[in-house]
Amino acid sequence: MINRYRKYLQILDEKLDKMFKKQAPFIKCQKGCAYCCKEGEYPMSELEFIEILFKYNELEQQIKDKVDANISNLLKSSRQKLYECPFLVDNVCSVYQARGLICRTFGLLSYNDKTGKKKMPFCVDLGLNYSNVYDKDTKTLTECAPDGTEPLAFNIDRTTLRSPNIERDFNIFFGEDKALVDWLREEFQAVVD
Ligand code: SF4
Repeated sequence: MINRYRKYLQILDEKLDKMFKKQAPFIKCQKGCAYCCKEGEYPMSELEFIEILFKYNELEQQIKDKVDANISNLLKSSRQKLYECPFLVDNVCSVYQARGLICRTFGLLSYNDKTGKKKMPFCVDLGLNYSNVYDKDTKTLTECAPDGTEPLAFNIDRTTLRSPNIERDFNIFFGEDKALVDWLREEFQAVVD
């Protein structure tokens, strides 16, 4: 099943790449900018977590040691609601090719599945994505980019990207959803203790 999931990720990445390119005048993402990995819950399914574990097991020992130290610190800390992702090493994702769905979509303007409202990436408040067309006071999008590009929202909510339709089309099963820290606790707590 993991190969079918990888096929899905490949197709999804191609679509996301087009979305990011279409929104280029509003996007400030670049290597080393890792705000989206510094404070979050990182909800993910069992299938997403298994793919990350495959990548983790292939890491160079030096990187793996750093990830292990991050995981140990996270599991020993009492503040676990919002936390830095332990796979972040020197501001770079150590499991980039295997990262979860939520990591792949972060940074784009999206629609909230439940409310249908537009959802800004939080980094707009840091002066990053979409900040050139966003009024912080009214919390609304203001205008197009100078080249006329409109800020567009996309249907990339996690529930859409891991829907039963996707499972049927790719013959995969995402399984249960948990915060990353809870998956890590299941997998690594015995090692940390
Ligand atoms: S898995 Fe990678 S991209 Fe996702 S939050 Fe962790 S470090 Fe960031």
